[in-house]
Amino acid sequence: MINSQTFYCANHPNRETTLRCNKCEKPICVKCAVLTPTGYRCKECVSGQQKVFETAISRDYILAFPIAAILSLIGSFIALSIGLFTILISPIAGAIIAESVRFVTGKRRSPKLFWITAIAVIAGCLPAALFVLISLVGTALYAGGRYMVYSLPDVIWILAYAGLTASTAYYRLRGINLRL
Ligand SMILES: [Zn+2]
Ligand SMILES: [Zn+2]
Repeated sequence: MINSQTFYCANHPNRETTLRCNKCEKPICVKCAVLTPTGYRCKECVSGQQKVFETAISRDYILAFPIAAILSLIGSFIALSIGLFTILISPIAGAIIAESVRFVTGKRRSPKLFWITAIAVIAGCLPAALFVLISLVGTALYAGGRYMVYSLPDVIWILAYAGLTASTAYYRLRGINLRL
């Protein structure tokens, strides 16, 4: 939202502006404004915000990865057995993974932690994806496509699970505690 009223930049008193920091409300010119996902902010508020945002310590990354990967692995095999319903359980799996990561990391956070969790979710799906691919290729080569346990859509469910679960976990981790 741009205010139609004209102010003078807090850092440049002779520069007219219509922008204001959406946190501390001080007028800022285009050069002083930083575009954030929630709107324009002054540099002081952005650097303060980053300090609040990045609380994760290196131990958190070491804990988050295996926990997210193992939970994702379990979920991916469940997804494989329920087919289309994967779409319904993936957001739940993502939420469970995000909450587990939050629990083991003592609710500490950082953008890197969100990414590591999302990557771990995708890594956790690899065994199930490989399992399906190997059995598909195996039955195609050695049984001429008979006795197929899995079909091509199973590959799609795994991919859908990986994408939905990783993005739910990522956004849930990122979104919580966003009180500014
Ligand atoms: Zn500000
Ligand atoms: Zn300025």
